[in-house]
Amino acid sequence: MVLKLKQPNRSNAGPASTVDVSAIVRGVINDIRADGDKAVRTYSKKFDKWSPESFKLSPEEIQQIVSTVPQQIIDDIKQVQENVRTFALAQRASLKDFELEIRPGVHLGQKNVPINSVGAYIPGGRYPLLASSHMTILTAKCAGVPHVTACTPPIAGKIPANTVAAMHFAGADAIYILGGVQAVAAMAIGTETMKKVDFIAGPGNAFVAEAKRQLFGEEIGIDLPAGPTEVLIVADEHANPFTVATDLLSQAEHGPDSPAVLITNSQSVGEKTIAEVDRLLKILPTADIAGVSWDRLGEVIVVDTLDEAYKLADEYASEHVQILTQKPREALEKMSNYGALFLGEKTCVSYGDKCIGTNHVLPTRGAARYTGGLWVGKYLKTVTYQEVTSEQESGELGRLCGRAARAENFEGHARSGDVRAHQFLGDKFEW
Ligand code: NAD
Repeated sequence: MVLKLKQPNRSNAGPASTVDVSAIVRGVINDIRADGDKAVRTYSKKFDKWSPESFKLSPEEIQQIVSTVPQQIIDDIKQVQENVRTFALAQRASLKDFELEIRPGVHLGQKNVPINSVGAYIPGGRYPLLASSHMTILTAKCAGVPHVTACTPPIAGKIPANTVAAMHFAGADAIYILGGVQAVAAMAIGTETMKKVDFIAGPGNAFVAEAKRQLFGEEIGIDLPAGPTEVLIVADEHANPFTVATDLLSQAEHGPDSPAVLITNSQSVGEKTIAEVDRLLKILPTADIAGVSWDRLGEVIVVDTLDEAYKLADEYASEHVQILTQKPREALEKMSNYGALFLGEKTCVSYGDKCIGTNHVLPTRGAARYTGGLWVGKYLKTVTYQEVTSEQESGELGRLCGRAARAENFEGHARSGDVRAHQFLGDKFEW
């Protein structure tokens, strides 16, 4: 049995669904391709009412901005960055370079090489998402990326000082106050005043996610599709509906495009959670946003068993999956499609978002079916190399290469093998 206690309200169209996001993004990218800085400024004025003399902050400006940030916030940024750094460096250490001698004198190797230049997008249209600085910039630095350009939008016409502090302490090499598609496109394409990067990482709203998607390929690499936040909670009859409701709303407040879904094997927990969400929406200071996303995209589904709950949750492939059951760790075996799992009521998605140390840049809109979230490995290229030190083996490989290439009608390839079989084993060969 599947009982839908609350379904999404499709008639409540969201902000991004009332405009053609793809067409808007394409227009901005094309204009920046054609007119560089001039177009960047035009769109920054249009979308953010922001047109300073320079979008890039000088070292003196950064120092001055950081000096305005309260000491407690700086201490907290440093503590969270320490958690992120500890986990990211352990992930880096888990990636081993290696070399194998597969036959005498035939050496094959693999190395993990950092990307040379990365653009980190730190979202901030609605909230100063300073934690994204730890996740994007600091993680790139833990991977060994030499140059990180970082962009964040102004908020209501002002520079977000806390975000600039987090970007600075995370190790950004250049900081720009520039948002949205214009920031992503400027980093990807390069302008008169911004050096082109090789790769762009970071989350953002539907416009930012679409810009990354459109620029991916010839222009840049990207980390993953990390659009509007999603949460899915699997709860059993022991879950506290107040906690479930609180944690659903903690993600619904991200924006009106953020789905919050509960799947439970307890009708009572489902009904009580809906009542708690309605109660909390009357007192939550960000209820104007969370209430819209809950109405538009909130869901409460009752199934018969926890196994069914895990199966359905896997079909959603949600960005964040929280397990509020008696045996939360069983989700590690039962589920495979999620950006990050939060096991038990002593942790929550907000810990992942803000402080615990795992990366909060995670796949959305079903991308968890094929990718995990941002981590040091995304900033590394796994490259291979080979060397043959034995004449005998080089000649043998030459014979094999000749036959293998001719099976594909590649005569040029075959002759590279023939030359070596001739040189090292004396095979007859005429060019
Ligand atoms: P944002 O920085 O992503 O976007 C702000 C920019 O959007 C502005 O600078 C503006 O230039 C542009 N913009 C706004 N309206 C536009 C329009 N009509 N046309 C063209 N451009 C427009 O900040 P945000 O809007 O607050 O969104 C942050 C998003 O990041 C949220 O959706 C949140 O859920 C998401 N997020 C995702 C993850 C993840 O890992 N998936 C993590 C954190 C945050």
